[in-house]
Amino acid sequence: MLDAPMAVVAIDREGFIRSANATAEKFFGCNLSDTESVRITDLIPEFNVPALETSEGLDRLNSGGRSQGPGRHMRAMRTGGSEAFVDVQAARFSVRGEDFLTLFIQDVTAVVEAETAAQDLRLQITYNWRLNSLGEMASMVAHELNQPLSAVLNFLEAAQTLLNRPQIEPDKIRKFLASAAGQAERAADVIRRLRSLMSRDTGFHAEANLGEVVTEVMPILQINARELEADITVAIPQEACVRCDRVQIQQLIINLVRNALDAPVTGQKRRVLISSSPVEDGHRLLVEDNGPGVSDAVAARLFDPLASTKPGGMGLGLSICRTIVEAHGGAINHVPSTLGGAAFAFTLIERTADA
Ligand code: ADP
Repeated sequence: MLDAPMAVVAIDREGFIRSANATAEKFFGCNLSDTESVRITDLIPEFNVPALETSEGLDRLNSGGRSQGPGRHMRAMRTGGSEAFVDVQAARFSVRGEDFLTLFIQDVTAVVEAETAAQDLRLQITYNWRLNSLGEMASMVAHELNQPLSAVLNFLEAAQTLLNRPQIEPDKIRKFLASAAGQAERAADVIRRLRSLMSRDTGFHAEANLGEVVTEVMPILQINARELEADITVAIPQEACVRCDRVQIQQLIINLVRNALDAPVTGQKRRVLISSSPVEDGHRLLVEDNGPGVSDAVAARLFDPLASTKPGGMGLGLSICRTIVEAHGGAINHVPSTLGGAAFAFTLIERTADA
């Protein structure tokens, strides 16, 4: 144990370090062997000594150390102040009636740094992808704004014409002004939606009405649909509520629907159906189409970045969709479509235990 390449320390029931090997001293950068004044919590502040009194506590620590889930690592304090992360496993032993714990402390700082870098990269990719698709979307939004703004102008001109008449008709004028205001609100809505899609906030999960989340992005999707004479139907029960990051889920829906609209033509009118059905702990969403379905060549690596059959396609869309769904604790799958084309299904959780 003294020569072990891993840091090993023995602590008593109070958490005082009673012996340590050379690797532990080197790792923490201090003398631990001849002193009984250093507690394990001085070195690993979140280490919970009382929790290890029971076998369950010990099992929890030991199985947590081996699991692959996030949050299993503990922050360690080293002399000199450099930050480190460790995984700890423990075993109980007794000497002359006194209980001790041997702690096997593994330095996982490099692993944590790599995980953090990967997470940063994922966020960056999500952000860049959102901006790229927004670049394309900007022209469509301009198109969408054009219509309500022209309508505002028309209604105001009509009101002005009425005002110039010798006989003023206030009711008619009021009606034109109200119509102009309604159209201006629609334009403001398009802009609001664009701003929220551009927001860099990620990971904010709040309770949301699923139908509303989807309906909010429909005007954007309808622009594509109109150009292709496609039909998008939303069938989500009114009461469906989930915990989600609204913007991310909207991004996910936009991408799946746009993929459905991008699918090669089959001769029949394009149809896309966005539906949801309740499942045990939430709602299962399905985005399906009546296109030709996913080609065999792509099916095997559908969610891999760079897998694309489109000229100029980046193949990032579905990979990002998967990142978003996984960030919500679920999985996204390519499943058979009742419409005959491709379908993508994922589940969103209704609410967390504490909600
Ligand atoms: P991109 O859209 O840039 O190609 P994606 O990751 O979104 O990237 O999609 C990868 C590939 O999966 C597409 O190029 C296409 O071949 C296929 N695909 C995705 N959705 C559908 C769909 N609804 N119907 C047919 N093929 C699809």
